[in-house]
Amino acid sequence: MLNDVLTPPAQRDALRDDSASEIPAAAAWTAPLLWQTGDSVVDLRESIRAKLTFALGRTPESARPRDWFAATALALRERIVAACMASEKAVPNKRVYYLSLEFLIGRLMSDAMNNLGLTETTRAALRELGVDLDAVQDAEPDAALGNGGLGRLAACFMDSMASIGIPAVGYGIRYDHGLFRQSFEDGWQREAPETWLAEGNPWEFVRPDASYTIGFGGTVTMSSPNEGVIRRHWQPAETVRAVAHDIPVVGWRGRHVNRLRLWKAEAGEPVDLARFNGGDHVGAVAARSRAEAISRVLYPSDSSAEGQELRLRQEYFFTSASLQDLIARHVNERGDVRSLPDHAAIQLNDTHPAIAVPELMRILMEDHDLSWEDAWHVTTNTLNYTNHTLMPEALETWPVELMERLLPRHMQIIYLINWMHLEEQAKHGRQDPAHQDAAYLASISLIDEAHGRRVRMGHLAFHGARRVNGVSALHTDLMRSTVFAHLHALDPDKIVNKTNGITFRRWLHNANPGLTRLAVETVGSGVLDDPALLRGLEAHAEDPAFVARYAAVRRQRKEALARLVAERTGTDIDPEALFDVQVKRIHEYKRQLLNVVETVALYQAIKAEPHRDWTPRVKIFAGKAAPSYVQAKLIIKLACDVARAVNDDPEVAGRLKVVFLPNYSVSLAETIIPGADLSEQISTAGMEASGTGNMKFALNGALTVGTLDGANIEIRDHVGADNIFIFGLDAAGVQAREAEPGYAARAIQASPRLAAALDMIASGRFSPGEPGRFRPLTDDLRRRDQYLLTADFDDYWRVQRSIDAAWRDPRGWWAKAIRNTARMAWFSSDRSMREYAEEIWRVRLS
Ligand SMILES: *Cc1c(COP(=O)(O)O)cnc(C)c1O
Repeated sequence: MLNDVLTPPAQRDALRDDSASEIPAAAAWTAPLLWQTGDSVVDLRESIRAKLTFALGRTPESARPRDWFAATALALRERIVAACMASEKAVPNKRVYYLSLEFLIGRLMSDAMNNLGLTETTRAALRELGVDLDAVQDAEPDAALGNGGLGRLAACFMDSMASIGIPAVGYGIRYDHGLFRQSFEDGWQREAPETWLAEGNPWEFVRPDASYTIGFGGTVTMSSPNEGVIRRHWQPAETVRAVAHDIPVVGWRGRHVNRLRLWKAEAGEPVDLARFNGGDHVGAVAARSRAEAISRVLYPSDSSAEGQELRLRQEYFFTSASLQDLIARHVNERGDVRSLPDHAAIQLNDTHPAIAVPELMRILMEDHDLSWEDAWHVTTNTLNYTNHTLMPEALETWPVELMERLLPRHMQIIYLINWMHLEEQAKHGRQDPAHQDAAYLASISLIDEAHGRRVRMGHLAFHGARRVNGVSALHTDLMRSTVFAHLHALDPDKIVNKTNGITFRRWLHNANPGLTRLAVETVGSGVLDDPALLRGLEAHAEDPAFVARYAAVRRQRKEALARLVAERTGTDIDPEALFDVQVKRIHEYKRQLLNVVETVALYQAIKAEPHRDWTPRVKIFAGKAAPSYVQAKLIIKLACDVARAVNDDPEVAGRLKVVFLPNYSVSLAETIIPGADLSEQISTAGMEASGTGNMKFALNGALTVGTLDGANIEIRDHVGADNIFIFGLDAAGVQAREAEPGYAARAIQASPRLAAALDMIASGRFSPGEPGRFRPLTDDLRRRDQYLLTADFDDYWRVQRSIDAAWRDPRGWWAKAIRNTARMAWFSSDRSMREYAEEIWRVRLS
């Protein structure tokens, strides 16, 4: 892998361990006690200097932090390639291909340094060049090639696969512009394009040799070369080229290197010379702009299906390029495409690559002459599908008419797959009357006929996959009992659960070096390799000396967070207060509004009894709303307006503050999460498939206030019910309540506190210039309240007050926090990946 790049000079030295003595004592004192290996400081320093001079053409005097970042990244990349070559073995027996429209990888330098054991060596090397590592790291733009949890999951999985030795390639799109940059203008979200590639990407290798033609539109013709067998051939009207850009992903201790292969769209011909010479300079490059538009921007839709043709073009573009690439590799290594299932496992991250089902069929039949039956066998033994949502509005469907126009051959294949699928059931149905009726067949059909004719991508992926997984125990149960119930009954072994995880290397080692160092000093450095050893911290949960150190780490992280808040919002917050944090995409089902309404109720309560001994709290929010999501943007505005009123009110000073940090990102999360005391995971039960933010917080010792939803349930099972604050309806309770019309009005009537908070918001108290501003929010709660905020409010208030009380008992609080850190090992994405490897992919770890 990656062996076609320039041979690195430092290869021989890659595993030499002579650096420790060169680390100045000061660095060893402030730095986490992580492992160190690799080059000497001198080697790395000279390597960085050479990159700056010869690759970037800069002198040290003129170099900006961004230049030092690029030079350092290039020097580290060279060492990743060296590690890769050192670990290079024979062709692996089986590879995993992880197809995802999103990879929310964030900054890569800390991953690379940490996994190569070069963090302190790099710090020392840069210091000798007169440069501060932290400033260099801050100059790296976040690779925000994803919206939220789904994309971040793909990034954690890439790190884990490389760390535990699963040979894998991640496939996605190299968007010119990742997730939009968020700013606030008087509390309203504004979006600006994100430009992570403005100065190039030092981590990537361009592979012009790995490029494929992707077709769109056109017609399908028939031929019958040998008697009776009809072959269909697709003649696309338009073609685009997909060019590979590889980012090496180095695993823990540099033992394995995988790659993330991102496709960039290019025109077949960059310019129509005849038109250009004829004077039409703009028209001559029109085809080029049309082609390049495919990899121009990440769609900023978090979970609702995107109804744009360009989105479907993106999905097909990256799926087709990835399948062509992996089949070419397979045929090159093994000769016969029929053995693909033995040597490749393809994972579809949500339905975005679900078009892989007909595309793989098409490639196998048209390019490799397989019969339908053989192609179906290969397809359904190679593909697997991860479902991420059961919410009807978020289940992806495409109009048949659009599919026929853009992908005519694929639509034919989908029709035939569906015909065979329904025919088989109709056959059973002739024996089993339960399976005869039209409603049953309509529920399992790949085509939804009820809302105009649309292809159900979830059903397509389900039917074409060998294994289908949910991402938490509850979510998987709901898959079996709701949306996929009938398909599940046809093949009861197909659905399996694979609870999500997070990579501890980023979310503990990198994000919280102080806590990592404390863990290493307490239970030994083996904890860096085996998070199960965190369990050893539990014995110290009530040991005053340990608690003091644990609390000191938190205090330091809270001070850092307070500095960030002051810098980005101008608001001073007191690290003595309870930091109550809700950071994630803004979505009605995630119920930031519940948190804001509770904030208003607390504000009223403090004002009513200003002399009571209130537990000081800072409510910290961050998160982006999809630009077209009007209600979510109004929730942001409300949070900002409440923040202003509360923070300006001297009567609640020292008791309550509210801040909204702009532009939530992976890097911001890495600063916020270790500084949190309380983690808000308050989605309507049954709606958050898993959540992974919940895991990051609990690992770092924030206590969770949460509903029995997604992985919160499993977190409770692991940390213990005494160490988490659970409230509200469970998923069954939600289902029951949804069936009662008028529940919201009754709930508000029964709760004077809720009614008063809603009245204050509706009165214009927070929006004096526009009193009716928030009526769309309050009216909706009074009438429909789809997310059952009113049903859970009183219990949420109750649990928040019990949290106030718990905070006033520091010994009890810290014991709970330490038990959270100690008991979260199971949520490592290394565990998730081992389970996928064993039960879905059937791949050996190397
Ligand atoms: C972990 C993470 C998420 C997912 O958070 P949830 O609370 O699970 O929705 C979203 N965005 C970023 C930047 C993250 O790091």
